[in-house]
Amino acid sequence: MDFIGIDLGTTYSAISTIDQYGKPVVLADSYGDRLVPSAVWFSPDGEVKTGADAKDMLQFGEDVALFFKRYMGHADYSYTAAGKEYSATDLSSLLLSHLKGRAEAILGHPVSKAVITVPAYFNDFQRTSTIEAGRRAGLDVLAILNEPTAAAITYGINRREGGRILVYDLGGGTFDVTVLQIDHGELKVIATGGDHELGGKDFDDMLIKHIARKFMADTGYDIEDDMEGLADLTLAVENLKKQLSDRNSAVISVRSNGERQKYTVTRAEFEELTKTLLHATQSICNNILKEAGLGWQDLDGALLVGGSTRMPMVYEWVAGMTGKRPLTGVNADEAVALGAAIVASMKTRRILGAVGSGGPEDPRLQLADSVTVSDVMSHSLGTVAVSSDGTKYVNSIIIRKNKEIPVTDRRQLKFRTRQGGKNLQTVYLTQGESPDIDKCLVVGKYLFHGIEHVKNPEGAVIEIGYSYDANGVVSVEGLQVESGKKLTVEKVALDDDLSWLYEAPRNTFEPMSVVLTIDESGSMCWRDAIKKACKAAEGFIEQLPEGSFSITVQGFADSYKNYCTFEKDASKAKRELRNIEKDTNTARVGYGNACEPIRECHRLLMEAPSENRILVILTDGEWSRKNQAIEAADRAKADGIRIAAIGFGSADKKFLRKISSDDSLGIFTSADNLSAAFSTIAREFSTGLKR
Ligand code: AMP
Repeated sequence: MDFIGIDLGTTYSAISTIDQYGKPVVLADSYGDRLVPSAVWFSPDGEVKTGADAKDMLQFGEDVALFFKRYMGHADYSYTAAGKEYSATDLSSLLLSHLKGRAEAILGHPVSKAVITVPAYFNDFQRTSTIEAGRRAGLDVLAILNEPTAAAITYGINRREGGRILVYDLGGGTFDVTVLQIDHGELKVIATGGDHELGGKDFDDMLIKHIARKFMADTGYDIEDDMEGLADLTLAVENLKKQLSDRNSAVISVRSNGERQKYTVTRAEFEELTKTLLHATQSICNNILKEAGLGWQDLDGALLVGGSTRMPMVYEWVAGMTGKRPLTGVNADEAVALGAAIVASMKTRRILGAVGSGGPEDPRLQLADSVTVSDVMSHSLGTVAVSSDGTKYVNSIIIRKNKEIPVTDRRQLKFRTRQGGKNLQTVYLTQGESPDIDKCLVVGKYLFHGIEHVKNPEGAVIEIGYSYDANGVVSVEGLQVESGKKLTVEKVALDDDLSWLYEAPRNTFEPMSVVLTIDESGSMCWRDAIKKACKAAEGFIEQLPEGSFSITVQGFADSYKNYCTFEKDASKAKRELRNIEKDTNTARVGYGNACEPIRECHRLLMEAPSENRILVILTDGEWSRKNQAIEAADRAKADGIRIAAIGFGSADKKFLRKISSDDSLGIFTSADNLSAAFSTIAREFSTGLKR
């Protein structure tokens, strides 16, 4: 069979296939080794060693690339050797190519297809990087499979009875938890999560610190300053830890700076040192159960997976946590790789038993025949949006985590278009649960091309669709709702500098050109109305994000007056407001309401510096040329001008709504509440990307 399953681990990897009896098996080399260290070493002249050969170089004090899986998809990680830089994808592809070669040597024939497992929490970057690494190693990657799901497949394949289980997967560098339901070959993942910086290595690190402290106390030397000594200690400590899984105490010998010491470490001592790590795993499990709406009593048991669950303390801890003895029957080191082989065989349609001698009566084979797997993703997918008050960027979730994959969800966004403009919308893809953008990861940038201009001043409605495919890899699509036309979506490189995300939104949309026109009719002189109006209007200007607009102030009553040109400097507009406040009773524009200012404002806005045109009207009276005003407003709106109309006193509510762009922008209020009305429209106009 030309397929393999690969458990690409942080510390160790394993390869598997389906043997001639239809049984999933981990491949062992001629020395009987089934696990391959996830290690790569480069000689100064470009020779590359991988696997055990690379790890062996540690004992010669050589620098060996280890734990690079932790940096998969990290753009800023690189490992430098012999003057060359290697990304985690480069290193993984070297390791995968080693694993492919090893499988071919053991099986005696070429291998071209593989299912590769990844931690359930792996994000889009990490998954696509893994696929890329596989491709570069000459493998056709049939699927990317979540590690705990793979382990559960191995567990479930041998069992006819159903149940709800928690997979507790503590590996070398990662901790994964998955809750799933198994029912007669049907495997449904309910929830998943974990911590990608918690694993066996952290137990090792605690032991290293402990021994280094002792060595320092005894010799005065800090072994952590001695690269070679530390490399030896790292190897010795992992050995010591493993020994402590079988016995109550073990001895470690440490050498540095010509000094040599021997220390005995007891299992109890080790367990005390590292207890906090188990506490950490428990709180992760609690969170995941909570998210799934389950309690410990709802589980039939926990399945231990990953090399680190060989530590007796883990077994005891999980037994205590669940109130039940952990489930057995799978090999913690091999379950993941075996699950990958089973899925690879399903994918290549060489269902178990097809070539086996077990025959159709073998219950295991029948179960394998009918095994169906449904998985979920541990990250929500969202987009960068502007908060409803326009003050910051937020994460707006589109696909919630723990939804069965493959899955697609859609969200409609408004996007202001320009006549004859390029109308390109940028969408940033996020992964994370919090609305706070700094707690999420921006994982992609997409350009939506071909948005058609719409006259609706609210903008075009764009529907973004996000999908997770069965591998948990993300894709993005777009559609313009007005035309029903699919948009071309282009994935582009993420900006190097995303620090603007953490600042107040400024340039999310074109700067606004604002005309603020104020009723100066006689009634405005009554009871400080003009004072209140101008104060509120000043507040409005102050609430517009700095640098996002230019503004001009106009007056009207029986006639219309243009007091200033569009200015970016808000102080000029404010000064005009104060002039209006002072001079209203001098009747510069008359006393009545005969003027319809919209036509003039429209004309002015068409010459404005930006095409994001806004007209704000404040009035306290009933206009005599209402119909003309409504017609003028319709024409202005058709040209993309957004109109807000705030009225008080004897203004006409219905009329305000008619001339404004939508009901939320036609506000009737009292003179004392003008500030609140202005705040509402300031917010409305400052919001870039609306849900
Ligand atoms: P994995 O990533 O699942 O291969 O797990 C590797 C981790 O398991 C490494 O940190 C190993 O040190 C650890 N490990 C393997 N065997 C044992 C053992 N017998 N006792 C304690 N830890 C172990």
